[in-house]
Amino acid sequence: MFEKKTIRNVDVRGKRVLVRVDFNVPLAEGAVTDDTRVRAALPTIRHLVDNGARVILLSHLGRPKGERDPEYSLRPVRRVVQRLIGRNVVFIDSTVGPEAEEAVGRMVDGEILMLENVRFSPGEKTNDPEFSKQLAALADIYVNDAFGAAHRAHASTVGVTHYLPAYAGMLLAREVETLTEMLAHPDRPFVAILGGSKVSDKFGVIDRLLECVDTLVIGGGMCFTLLVAKGLDVGKSLVEEEWIEPAKKMLTKATERGVDLMLPVDFVVADAIAEDAETKIVGREEIPADMMGLDIGPTSVELFKGAVTSAKTIFWNGPMGVFELTPFEHGTREVAMAVARNNRAVSVIGGGDSVAAVRKFGLEQRVTFVSTGGGASMKLLEGSELPGLEALLDN
Ligand code: ADP
Ligand code: MG
Repeated sequence: MFEKKTIRNVDVRGKRVLVRVDFNVPLAEGAVTDDTRVRAALPTIRHLVDNGARVILLSHLGRPKGERDPEYSLRPVRRVVQRLIGRNVVFIDSTVGPEAEEAVGRMVDGEILMLENVRFSPGEKTNDPEFSKQLAALADIYVNDAFGAAHRAHASTVGVTHYLPAYAGMLLAREVETLTEMLAHPDRPFVAILGGSKVSDKFGVIDRLLECVDTLVIGGGMCFTLLVAKGLDVGKSLVEEEWIEPAKKMLTKATERGVDLMLPVDFVVADAIAEDAETKIVGREEIPADMMGLDIGPTSVELFKGAVTSAKTIFWNGPMGVFELTPFEHGTREVAMAVARNNRAVSVIGGGDSVAAVRKFGLEQRVTFVSTGGGASMKLLEGSELPGLEALLDN
């Protein structure tokens, strides 16, 4: 998709390259608790450093309110970048302005400079042209490698591209290419597994997948709205009343398209979402009125594993149950393991909690691709335009 628009095809030697990365990492007591996002940005950073660029790293972290807030400083991330890249990284307390410009002016080829949280400036979220120009003033070339922020039209993802030659970083390009290729040219059978809490969050994605997949497996909290649409009683399980009608349309669309839509046939139910909840296994027609389905049951597990095992392309988003709690993790674990075991298939995992689940079960290295962009990957899959990508393609 990006071809000539990726940073690989540009001579960066001696150039000041402003790289928008997604270092929006979880912090606890000032320490980074998960460095996945930093690792994901390494190929681009390495490429630039190895080719003699002066690398200026720009990111957001959390949701500060357009002003300096020490809680959201990127300073703790500096050490992590330094350790992973094996080079010195300079950090400065500002994002734009004289201090930033001076620091950039002191850089030599192959050096790395990290700027402070771009969301400390109010102009970031408003995509302010003046702020965008200040960002652009720091560099000769702009690179967007923050796929996770590509669905936002902010100064650091869109505005800045009006004032600098702009290219896709390696992570962003790989994310986009993997997801679009999966939809456009999947090896068949193409099996998608959707779960998580709400059908409303993912309606657009499901609707689009129904046009591409052979089998759509739906578990997690969202399956109950579909079961109600089919006329079943689901007790106290999670149901979105206003999504019952759209769910009926979804069922019709699956039939029309010849998609095998698989819903759970049994559940692990309990009367509370708790670690010590008393659970039992029931068929989907026998969910007690005062209980809720919190995981798929053993027969559903076998059914879903069967679909996964025969697939050549797998897309998985959303856990099958409340996997954070031991009594309800079984379904998610089993499906994740089946995905990992199928090494003849291209397997793509997307979404915050699904990625967390894959990691919790230690299966990350055994799938083809783990998407780092939660919201952005969902937007891309549902066919919405991502402002950050459009800005690169239009540049
Ligand atoms: P992702 O982040 O992978 O896109 P979601 O955010 O949509 O996934 O959903 C994840 C959440 O869904 C988890 O916190 C999980 O506990 C919850 N969930 C899964 N199954 C159920 C269920 N049967 N009832 C209620 N919540 C559920
Ligand atoms: Mg989530």
